Amino acid sequence: STNTSPFMLEKPDMNFADVGGMEREKQEIDLKIIKPLQFPELYKAYGKRAGGGILLYGPPGCGKTYLARATAGQINAEFINVGIHDVLDMWMGNSEKNLHALFELARASKPCVLFFDEVDALGANRNTMRNNGSNLINQFLSEMDGINANNENILIMGATNAPWNLDPAFRRPGRFDRIIFVEPPAQKGREEILKIHLKGKPVEGIDYSAIAKVTEGYSGADLKAIIDIAIEEKLLEALQSGTPSPITQKELVKATKTHRATTREWFNTA
Ligand code: ATP
Repeated sequence: STNTSPFMLEKPDMNFADVGGMEREKQEIDLKIIKPLQFPELYKAYGKRAGGGILLYGPPGCGKTYLARATAGQINAEFINVGIHDVLDMWMGNSEKNLHALFELARASKPCVLFFDEVDALGANRNTMRNNGSNLINQFLSEMDGINANNENILIMGATNAPWNLDPAFRRPGRFDRIIFVEPPAQKGREEILKIHLKGKPVEGIDYSAIAKVTEGYSGADLKAIIDIAIEEKLLEALQSGTPSPITQKELVKATKTHRATTREWFNTA
């Protein structure tokens, strides 16, 4: 293949402070992958090997990608975002080699968070691909184990909406051995997310906690969507009047009625 490295190295300009709620998730990430990177000798003193990965799972839109990007920002690392579905199409017939090139790119860019979205698609591959779905899994696992390479200072994170589809081999020690459920934000988290996404925008008299109360089941993406709807309404008004007026409680409450929570379905079908 001619296109072995279509990946964007990105230096995120955000960090944990930009992630609403998720206190437990942030703490787990800190202890499992950030601290081992910063204090490797302390971990070694107790026979704890740095490395391994974190698997994030949960309903769509609840911030898995966002949290992985913030993790990179938190430690000033590069971020590589890999959508497994997309790369498998793109890599057709040359997946092992391309996967190796990707890990090599991460190793050359350390510190680096290498993030795999829809990581369960690798497993699905095993059954559906004519040739060597399991070779690809084996390649992935040995890259992750760092058998012939140095994975120090690369943090591997994965995300999935369907953890039950993931090959159990992925979950062995040193691999995705820490699994974090990224659930829909609780009320306090919803309030923080609303504030984060309205920061720097013209607002007036907003009762954040009241909106957080009526948005149970809303993902972070849903909350961002209601803000976008409210802004659109304000913008249409401003285009007519020629003057921008602040976003108020009224537009936000109205938007909660047009955009409903999207996470409930996940819990019913799961
Ligand atoms: P998918 O499973 O569909 O990939 P995801 O869990 O990866 O979803 P993200 O793409 O990370 O979800 O989140 C979508 C958007 O929602 C983010 O870009 C962000 O704007 C917003 N968002 C989600 N969670 C949070 C949060 N905790 N704090 C602030 N913004 C959030």
